[in-house]
Amino acid sequence: MTCNKRFKWHGFVRRFFVNTFRRRYVRNQLRVRKGSCAQCGKCCRLVYRCPFLTKAGKCLIYTRGRPAQCRNFPVDIHDIERAGSNCGYYF
Ligand code: SF4
Repeated sequence: MTCNKRFKWHGFVRRFFVNTFRRRYVRNQLRVRKGSCAQCGKCCRLVYRCPFLTKAGKCLIYTRGRPAQCRNFPVDIHDIERAGSNCGYYF
């Protein structure tokens, strides 16, 4: 596994862990998060291409039960760095 691939999987596991077990941290982070989603879809391709991402680049389940790690992306500056620092949100 290359270093870059390992970095991506680390982010995936971290997002799952934080959104599952550190909900207070997530709530606090979302309060200070600024900006808005530019709908670039980068967070839908961080480790693998999400199966719910359509060819038009839209989320099939956007209003119907997206997992917390999708709804809450980015939780902090680490997530933004993983998205190539081009996310519409900032801290
Ligand atoms: S990377 Fe940021 S701006 Fe792009 S789709 Fe995800 S949340 Fe929205």
